[in-house]
Amino acid sequence: MRLEEKDLAYIWHPCSQMKDYETLPPKIIARGQGVYLYDIDGNEYMDIVSSWWCNLLGHCNPTISKRMQAQLDTLEHVIFANFSHEGAIQLCEELANLLPKGLTKFNFSDNGSASVECALKMAFQYQNQIGRPEKQRFMCLTNGYHGETMGALSVGTMDLYAKLYQPMLMDTIRIEAPDCYRCPYGRTRDSCSCECFEKAEAAFAQFAQETAAMIVEPLLQGSAGMRIYPPLYLEKLRDLCTKQEVLLIADEIATGFGRTGKMFACEHAGITPDIICLSKGLTGGYLPMSLTVTTETIYRAFYADYREGKAFLHSHTYSGNPLGCAAALAVLQVFREEPILEEAQANADYLSAQMQKAFGDHPHVGEIRSIGLIHAIELVKTKETKEAFDPNLRMGYQIYREALELGLVLRPLGDVLYFNPPLTIKWEELKKAIQQTKEAIKRVLGE
Ligand SMILES: *Cc1c(COP(=O)(O)O)cnc(C)c1O
Repeated sequence: MRLEEKDLAYIWHPCSQMKDYETLPPKIIARGQGVYLYDIDGNEYMDIVSSWWCNLLGHCNPTISKRMQAQLDTLEHVIFANFSHEGAIQLCEELANLLPKGLTKFNFSDNGSASVECALKMAFQYQNQIGRPEKQRFMCLTNGYHGETMGALSVGTMDLYAKLYQPMLMDTIRIEAPDCYRCPYGRTRDSCSCECFEKAEAAFAQFAQETAAMIVEPLLQGSAGMRIYPPLYLEKLRDLCTKQEVLLIADEIATGFGRTGKMFACEHAGITPDIICLSKGLTGGYLPMSLTVTTETIYRAFYADYREGKAFLHSHTYSGNPLGCAAALAVLQVFREEPILEEAQANADYLSAQMQKAFGDHPHVGEIRSIGLIHAIELVKTKETKEAFDPNLRMGYQIYREALELGLVLRPLGDVLYFNPPLTIKWEELKKAIQQTKEAIKRVLGE
């Protein structure tokens, strides 16, 4: 049996209708280098989506690989209750200096969803222990995505992933998110004063007393199609949360580590959340690891004699895994030794200009939007009305298949095509990716 057939005999792939694989069998990848993946037949694919947004500094990055190899021969794992190790300690010290000021207490998990679960439980217990036990609910934005486990799905609001499971989920308070492309107030992203924030104000007026925390993806609602909203919205939300004693949880799982042009998206708004969730880029995409980081104030509410029952009795087997910490330390080392953010910014400017040139006039390209190196193209039925295509036409998916044939991994979000490449991508590679995208769009939608 060929490997492809064996794969289909055994493997249930994530986020897939497996019947699609009848006509698009899995690519069996043999190796990766930089922005490229190579399959077992020697075909090359440019990984313009960073292998689900986690591959931050290229495949087989020499600095990360080397540091992890050294760690492998020293300590692979150790129980993290009552035990610790130098890598974890050093990682937290370095991150405390990079994170928005005040985030100094680190709790380790092993994937993004788990870090969200941890944040929700932490917020709930905090409110309970400081004498606000009535604050038991959570607020979130529509079009938000925070992962696939029950708590994370409960604060997720994309019907595609969450609707069917509603009976299993918590009853959360949903606030209509900013929609800058189809702004109901007729404003534009760059010049508005976030009139849409009135929706948040109304929800807080009604529900803040019963709300433990509000969770948001700062500035970029990734899974909903790289929807971008202004920093001012986040500034206003920080103020409102503080006033109403609702904790602010920033889910920076997708936006952290330079993806939006700054180390963390919260920096654009100059705010510190009460809790931040990190994963994906944290280990450069080498190993599953995540962090839920909070403030001294929140940490203190759990600090008491054991018999008071205030401890946070939350754990994962692989908390603080030394191999993951070694990868994460290597990522920070690369940021120190190389001008990653500066070069990514120069390439982002190049990419914005080239995308505008290549797709700006296409009748089915509604909006081209970007933040940092992340660039998205929203396809529409007609540019003038901004009307979407019938989702059953699967335009984005059709283009994805054409792009794959051309050697580009352009996995879409519905009808939104996007680039979210490793920050180390070269401008020549971006140029090539644009040409491939242009050809793939042409094959499905015409010139
Ligand atoms: C990917 C993602 C998650 C979930 O992380 P997993 O590691 O896939 O569980 C949560 N929030 C955001 C914003 C994400 O992009």
